Amino acid sequence: MRLVLLGAPGAGKGTQAQRLKEKFKIPHLSTGEMLRDARAKQSPLGIEADSYMQRGQLVPDQVVIGLMKERLSQPDCLHGYLLDGFPRTVAQAESLDKLLAETNKPLNAVLNLEVKEPELMTRLLARKREDDQEETIRARLKVYAEQTAPLIDFYKKKGVLRSVLGMGSMDEIFERLIQSLEN
Ligand code: AMP
Repeated sequence: MRLVLLGAPGAGKGTQAQRLKEKFKIPHLSTGEMLRDARAKQSPLGIEADSYMQRGQLVPDQVVIGLMKERLSQPDCLHGYLLDGFPRTVAQAESLDKLLAETNKPLNAVLNLEVKEPELMTRLLARKREDDQEETIRARLKVYAEQTAPLIDFYKKKGVLRSVLGMGSMDEIFERLIQSLEN
């Protein structure tokens, strides 16, 4: 099963990713986590990424595309994976498409978690992450609307988009996701 989890910051991608990964026994690939790891190790990539992350901006496409290509080439991704936080721009989605077309392994579905902006703000303010300061949150939501939300149409046109309401209990949301995959 090759899945992408799409949604604004605070939509609950990380939480649902944990469950999906267990259900389908696939690796969970989060570019945000990979970048935070690189930053903690102070690798050149981590140091470069940090300045963008602190401002709530996207790390340049070439950097994350390179990171993801390398990760997807590893043997544990052979039988599927769950992408969380990637792609985040049309350029990233096109690169991913190209890569998947080369190996003839298209995405099974793109799961889109829908949550309204005031709720996102409340959730993000309640979280205690370094990039969850109010100003950074606003920047991240703006970046999402401008650069990532166009992916909803991108994947709708490809016929793989499954949109699900991301409000309610974690169990309810998970149930909706599973049902959307069965439809
Ligand atoms: P996340 O944990 O997915 O919310 O990502 C945290 C931060 O990492 C984002 O605000 C970006 O600065 C950076 N990041 C994560 N994924 C990507 C991506 N696919 N493209 C560009 N930047 C990313």
